[in-house]
Amino acid sequence: MSGIAVKPQERTCQGISRVDEPCDKSAQQYCERCRQWFCRTHYPDPEWHGCAPEQGDV
Ligand SMILES: [Zn+2]
Ligand SMILES: [Zn+2]
Repeated sequence: MSGIAVKPQERTCQGISRVDEPCDKSAQQYCERCRQWFCRTHYPDPEWHGCAPEQGDV
């Protein structure tokens, strides 16, 4: 009967740029391939996300 609500763990973007720059934004998108979470900005960004879905631009 504890009144403590279990807060879902906050995930942060696990993307890492070429210059090893971390991102501390909250992650919104999960990649099943690399099993990592990314923020909306970095999920489709190949520089941050190695297996980012193709965007129609090579
Ligand atoms: Zn991935
Ligand atoms: Zn990010």
